[in-house]
Amino acid sequence: MSPERESLDFDIVFVGAGPANLSAAIHLQNLVERHNERATSPLEPEIAIIEKGRYPGAHLLSGAILDPSAFSLFMPDFLEKGCPLEAPVGKEHVWFLGEKRKLRIPYLPEAFRNGGNYLVSLSRFGAWLASEAEARGIALIDNTAATGPILENGRVAGIVTDDKGIDRNGRAMPGSEPGMRLNARAVVVGEGARGSLFRQLDRIFGLQPEAGKQIYETGVKEVWKIPAGRTGAGEIHHTFGHPLPPELYGGGWLYAFSETSVSLGFVTSAEPSLPSVDPHYNLQLFKRHPLVRDIIAGGSMLEYGAKTITSGGYDAMPKLFGPGFLLTGECAGLVNMQRLKGLHLAMHSGVLAAETLFDSLVSGDFTEKALRTYETRFETSAMKEELHGARLYRQGFEHGLYRGLVNAGLKVAVPAPPSSPGENRLLPGGKEYDKWLLKKKAFRPDGALTFGKNDSVFRSGTVHEENQPCHLEIQPEDVAVICAERCAGEFGNPCQHFCPAGVYEIDTDSRPPLKINPSNCLHCKTCEIADPYGVIVWKPPEGGGGPGYKLC
Ligand code: SF4
Repeated sequence: MSPERESLDFDIVFVGAGPANLSAAIHLQNLVERHNERATSPLEPEIAIIEKGRYPGAHLLSGAILDPSAFSLFMPDFLEKGCPLEAPVGKEHVWFLGEKRKLRIPYLPEAFRNGGNYLVSLSRFGAWLASEAEARGIALIDNTAATGPILENGRVAGIVTDDKGIDRNGRAMPGSEPGMRLNARAVVVGEGARGSLFRQLDRIFGLQPEAGKQIYETGVKEVWKIPAGRTGAGEIHHTFGHPLPPELYGGGWLYAFSETSVSLGFVTSAEPSLPSVDPHYNLQLFKRHPLVRDIIAGGSMLEYGAKTITSGGYDAMPKLFGPGFLLTGECAGLVNMQRLKGLHLAMHSGVLAAETLFDSLVSGDFTEKALRTYETRFETSAMKEELHGARLYRQGFEHGLYRGLVNAGLKVAVPAPPSSPGENRLLPGGKEYDKWLLKKKAFRPDGALTFGKNDSVFRSGTVHEENQPCHLEIQPEDVAVICAERCAGEFGNPCQHFCPAGVYEIDTDSRPPLKINPSNCLHCKTCEIADPYGVIVWKPPEGGGGPGYKLC
């Protein structure tokens, strides 16, 4: 029997306190205030933002370089308002790395030029945007996850939030509280890459185009304090090559927030063509390259985190709206992989969503036809032009780095690859795989420059209520048959490699051999994407669980 749920009524509920939804909420409230200055019947909308992290910014992580163009649309005085910018981008470098060598690309491709942009910590940036939203009277409800949509007459009429105090066997513990029904005239879904509410809506309303399969990468990141004299504030490095083989998409970055603080990380395709790609291991190898090592050696790693990146671009974008809801930011596929940026697009989408919702508040019309104007706004926006100009960039790397670089350099649009499940693209263990695995098994982190997964997770601030149902669902029959037999034989259980938090462990002496440590989970969603059989389902754990980023 479903528990009795308290209901709260709102006009607009934003799901996810990321840059897209926070920009939307701020701009919407500004539009309402401006309207009320001259209106005879003022608008007093009830607006709420819900966030599954335990504070705003706790789950926000990115490189990140901010193209500030979107601020001109809703907060041109962002500098005076104290927006936390780490440094303006200064010297820029692009490198091709061999195992020990580096080759500087003499010509900086246009997409890599960052004059006028800023380095930011996305976690700090998001927390600041949240404070701006709250200063305008918007309710920000953190520690709260959206577990599903409320559907009424074929439209989304709100969301249900997570139950608190349910034990690992599904029983209510003393003090437990059922989640709430948050009724809304419109729900704005901005959960980032591969959100769980988005997936439910996609199943119901068919949002993802058949022809444009979404593509994801896994980014792992660290923030370091380093000795002075190695780099200058704003200096940035982008790399491709080592430690990835040419057939695998990915690359590294190092951004100097200041002379003594750097953000560095590594991106690896989450749809690997080898069965045991390990984004965390790739980051460790990247740090051992002289280019990176010479900058960070002797420093200390302050924070670690991981996220997936939505990289299919324009042709893989889902439908932006549906009955009762809009999609914003990365949830809507708004990332330009050619420029390695999505933050400005997320904010821009928030602005367009706010203008759409404002019109609906004024007219009282929240029908699908009214919400469709969000898509019309996108079609005539600079954002559309930018994404269209970079279309099929990432797909151009489907046949390896070298063809990808030629495609990118010549701006050739290759046809989108046919939609295929991950299973078809994984190669079963061969000689190359055995060599790779032996090397990885021999790898010993030194605890100074390189770390094991548990040490890394320790620096992510991740906590979960231990006694709660496992939020990584695999049906028992799949654990027994797919994981223990089929996947073990065909691919050597890649989950033990691709998870950047070491959540999945295989102990061949146990029955079943798969052990899951959900409390380590960084909420990156790699497992749902890279799992070759699609048996892992990521569900939001009790609100407040997950990473606690402060610097990422
Ligand atoms: Fe990411 Fe899945 Fe591992 Fe959690 S369990 S850290 S979502 S790969």
